[in-house]
Amino acid sequence: MSTIYVTGMGPGAEDQMTAKARNILESCRVIVGYTVYIDLIRDLFPGKSFLSTPMRQETERCHMAFQEALKGQDVAVVCSGDAGIYGMAGLIREIGKEHPGVKIEGIPGITAASSGAALLGAPLMHDFAVISLSDLLTPWETIERRLDHAAEADFVICLYNPSSRKRADYLKKACEIILRHRPAQTVCGIVRRIGREGESHQILSLGRLKDTQADMFTTVFIGSTATKELDGRMVTPRGYRNV
Ligand code: SAH
Repeated sequence: MSTIYVTGMGPGAEDQMTAKARNILESCRVIVGYTVYIDLIRDLFPGKSFLSTPMRQETERCHMAFQEALKGQDVAVVCSGDAGIYGMAGLIREIGKEHPGVKIEGIPGITAASSGAALLGAPLMHDFAVISLSDLLTPWETIERRLDHAAEADFVICLYNPSSRKRADYLKKACEIILRHRPAQTVCGIVRRIGREGESHQILSLGRLKDTQADMFTTVFIGSTATKELDGRMVTPRGYRNV
């Protein structure tokens, strides 16, 4: 029986891919993924057969993987970060119901929330909520409700998909909702292109974040009321007493 390995490749840098993910990619002859991610790893795995589709063709990409697996070979489906976090692991398992002859295995990777947090300092030391601002698969009203409740409950909030060309003002709208519950001086962080060329990070207030332009390779961190700036880093206290 052949296996599809749904593999998280980490944020992008070669040394941020787990050894297990690397071994899996080395062992599969066929690697399937979104064009941008395939381009990041193509040179690391010479001799592989790479199959890619552009963004938003996730279903086609999954079917492609099953077609290859049904030929009797193991296939790796790669996603950035962790494949089980806004990645392809769910869709592969749903489509997998039609293909009982193919085994599916998930290989975890470092998600943008952890790699971004390490760059900023220690923002996720206490309870946090992860919310995607992409309304391609979730109605905007649902996203607004989640932002409002997470802000009200004083979670640190990590935003994935904060913006795209069609959704240029979504980060601004999200900040306005959070500002209903949190002061404008709340410590926030923004990380761009983690593990890739042009990587950068910045710490700024919620008031300034509202007027900042993000793109699709950006992850945003909004502090809780306990988060502070310490030596230029964003830190949320763990809550240990007497520290
Ligand atoms: N599966 C991925 C998330 C895919 S959703 C993961 O676990 O990280 C795409 C969003 O993830 C982007 O819009 C951005 O918010 C975040 N992201 C993924 N890779 C990133 C990187 N290298 N640098 C900054 N943000 C990234």
